[in-house]
Amino acid sequence: MERTYIMIKPDGVQRGLIGEIIMRFERKGYKLIAMKLTAPGKAHMETHYEDLSGKKFFPGLIEYMTSGPVCAMVWEGANVVKEGRKMLGATMPSESACGTIRGDFCIEVGRNVCHGSDSVDSAEKEIALWFPEGVCAWDSCEGKWVYE
Ligand code: ADP
Ligand code: MG
Repeated sequence: MERTYIMIKPDGVQRGLIGEIIMRFERKGYKLIAMKLTAPGKAHMETHYEDLSGKKFFPGLIEYMTSGPVCAMVWEGANVVKEGRKMLGATMPSESACGTIRGDFCIEVGRNVCHGSDSVDSAEKEIALWFPEGVCAWDSCEGKWVYE
């Protein structure tokens, strides 16, 4: 089963959107296998976003991402990396379809509420970075009602 790293950013946490976002992934049929509220600091966030370190918006991004706790999660399910990104919506909220999380809950790219891994490879890296302690594997009785 595929896994992805989904993070509710500080604005999403402060605006009370944790429940809403978890609800969408749960209702879709994905399984939550790790979750914590955490504020790991600047160095950790710079590592998470290291691919963007050359961008002009990088300092602002790090300031935003360290301005409060984030809700770090790992979700599991078929094609969850790609489907999870679809559920989040486009990076730019103005380009996010209604019905997506960003399309429904935000206006600006610098306050776009949530993060989702962009590939299976980056999901693996991000899960290792955020959950070095490992994830919590559990059996769901719903499996046979979600998958054929
Ligand atoms: P995504 O989060 O959709 O994977 P990126 O990896 O390209 O998007 O960028 C990471 C995050 O950096 C975005 O979610 C957003 O918070 C921020 N960001 C991206 N582009 C800009 C921009 N042009 N101005 C300000 N912040 C940006
Ligand atoms: Mg990205």
